[in-house]
Amino acid sequence: MVQVTTDGERAGRGPRRRWMIAGVTVLAVTAAGVTWAVVGRGNSSGGSGPSAATPSHTVSGPPAEEGIQAGADAVLKARASAVLTGKLPQYLQNVDPANSQLRQRDQQVFANLRKLGLSGLSYRIDTNWAPEVQAQHGPNAFAVRVLMLVQIAGIDSAPRATSLGYTFAERGGRWLLVDDDDLAAEADLSAYREPWDLGAVDVARRPGVLVVVPAGEHRNGERLAREAQLAMPVVRSTTRRIQAGILVVAMADRRSMDPEWQSGGHPAAAVAARNFAPANPEASEFKVTGSRVVVHPDQRTKAGRLLFAHEFTHAAMEPLGDRAPIWLVEGFATYVENRLAAQSGYRREIDSERRALLREKIPALVVLPIDGVFHGDYDEDSYGVSWIIVDHLVTTYGQAAVNALYAELARGPDTPAVREQVLRKHLKVGETALIAALKKAGGAA
Ligand SMILES: [Zn+2]
Repeated sequence: MVQVTTDGERAGRGPRRRWMIAGVTVLAVTAAGVTWAVVGRGNSSGGSGPSAATPSHTVSGPPAEEGIQAGADAVLKARASAVLTGKLPQYLQNVDPANSQLRQRDQQVFANLRKLGLSGLSYRIDTNWAPEVQAQHGPNAFAVRVLMLVQIAGIDSAPRATSLGYTFAERGGRWLLVDDDDLAAEADLSAYREPWDLGAVDVARRPGVLVVVPAGEHRNGERLAREAQLAMPVVRSTTRRIQAGILVVAMADRRSMDPEWQSGGHPAAAVAARNFAPANPEASEFKVTGSRVVVHPDQRTKAGRLLFAHEFTHAAMEPLGDRAPIWLVEGFATYVENRLAAQSGYRREIDSERRALLREKIPALVVLPIDGVFHGDYDEDSYGVSWIIVDHLVTTYGQAAVNALYAELARGPDTPAVREQVLRKHLKVGETALIAALKKAGGAA
């Protein structure tokens, strides 16, 4: 059974941690972007395109493929426009009348998508995968991979792609959607699901925030939306970056979180998961268009403003690139989280935590925390030490300099030589002098 590790050391470090429930593990954005687009689908062009999972059935003949392509396209177009205009009969008109379970699932998805409020929806058959014969649905039935491109009004600045496996069959000269789980055995289609696929949902809105919860958890949705809103000012003022909005997913179903989203070997309390969209017409490569925050089911009634401040910071910084060192990525997010904690009546606890880290951890520092060993047994120290470093940088050089440093490191390349050069450019000191200055600050604490 998966379980979120609420780390003992961190939880024990101060009453604030226990009380605010922020002392749970939070995941590096660099590790959080693993979705269907990159799981089992890398390609030689370096993007997140198809490959490892081999397209099935490359032998199916072109005539059938063309038929299904045109037939399925027409069905999908009608469904997309039905969702956008709120016409349930049109959404269901090409769904197998005999498959009542599929129709029920579809009806639920339709209702859920209407609740989210979409500004855009389209479907695209993923032609990187050959249609797979599904003889159990009749002589002319094929499962295809479909990219669903969803854009939530007021939240997403671009459509986000998610993957579906749909089976279409020709019945009496007409193509129908006859099933939606014939490809479910494929890893990327089974382990993770979008919130609208997980039963009836409820939503809570605030400007720039949309929280999705299971139906019946409206009160928690409203609480999360309030907490999210309380996290936003400090995220904006520190990152100095504006986002259209952010989607927060806080479902009870474990499939709302990809099992790949781990931190140091255990599931994260929440992740800023990257949103992908096709980068070319063939959809063989994908680009990052933003992030959404997914809260671990076990944490959904406890998550609050500090966790959101941390994850929203990751989401805000993500578009800058993913090459920044993890100490900076996590140190920066923890810095924002702790600023909010200090503003929320915990200044004394934060100050004492800072002093303890300066006294106990910084003297042992030899190099800046290394990406490869950041997570793992030393998780908690890594976060705390990284926070101290960023805290020191902001105090010494100012927020603007730290943000400029972040932006340039995030662009990469992430070689030690380039990182050293970028440090010197923005701070006028290299790693060794920076460590020495931190230790000096530690001595004074
Ligand atoms: Zn983090």
